[in-house]
Amino acid sequence: MRLVLVGPPGAGKGTQAEFIAGELGVPKISTGDIFRANVSGGTPLGLEAKRYMDAGDLVPDDVTNRMVADRLAAEDARDGFLLDGYPRNTEQAEVLDGLLEERGHVLDLALELVVGDDEIVRRLSGRRVSKSTGKVYHLEFDPPEDPDSPDLYQRSDDQPETIKNRLKVYAEQTEPIMGYYEERGKLVRIDAVGDVEDVTGRAMAAVRERTAK
Ligand code: ADP
Ligand code: AMP
Repeated sequence: MRLVLVGPPGAGKGTQAEFIAGELGVPKISTGDIFRANVSGGTPLGLEAKRYMDAGDLVPDDVTNRMVADRLAAEDARDGFLLDGYPRNTEQAEVLDGLLEERGHVLDLALELVVGDDEIVRRLSGRRVSKSTGKVYHLEFDPPEDPDSPDLYQRSDDQPETIKNRLKVYAEQTEPIMGYYEERGKLVRIDAVGDVEDVTGRAMAAVRERTAK
């Protein structure tokens, strides 16, 4: 199964990707996670990506598309994958279709997580991440045992000014891909407000319904 998970920053893509990929037995591939790992590791890719990420802008397509092409060429992604955070504009969506076509594959589904702006801001402002495990918490909705633990950090792009720009970038550059997938009959939208397990349930029901056809 080859899926992309789309939706605004903070919609719960990373949270849901973990469960959905687990249920489907495919690797979860998050471009944001790959960029952050490169930033932490101080690689040339990380140095290049950091200034865009800090501003809440998209990393340029040539860099991002090359990185995704490399990752999709890995053995574990041969029979399927769940992409989280890619594509983020129409050009990336076209590049992904091209990469799949070269291998004789097609995308099965683009699953859109639908969440309103107020909820997005609440989710992003309360997001905290564990340095040691990478687990993502929320101060209110999924609180860590010790909210003051030095192991927890707030992503630098989860500050109010950067959040504002990320939402603008989403509306201007990413939202048009919904039309791209809708025209190709690939788009399924699910309500992503509510308990994490309920959202996973809706996502899995949508995936099963679509792939049974
Ligand atoms: P994305 O990957 O789309 O940016 P995340 O999965 O990191 O989003 O989720 C953003 C924040 O919202 C996190 O702090 C996460 O714990 C929280 N969150 C995720 N799903 C839900 C939900 N269904 N209800 C409330 N909070 C949620
Ligand atoms: P995320 O973890 O998905 O919220 O992504 C964090 C940041 O990484 C984004 O704000 C972008 O700067 C960058 N990024 C992640 N995925 C992409 C992508 N597909 N295209 C361009 N930039 C990306």
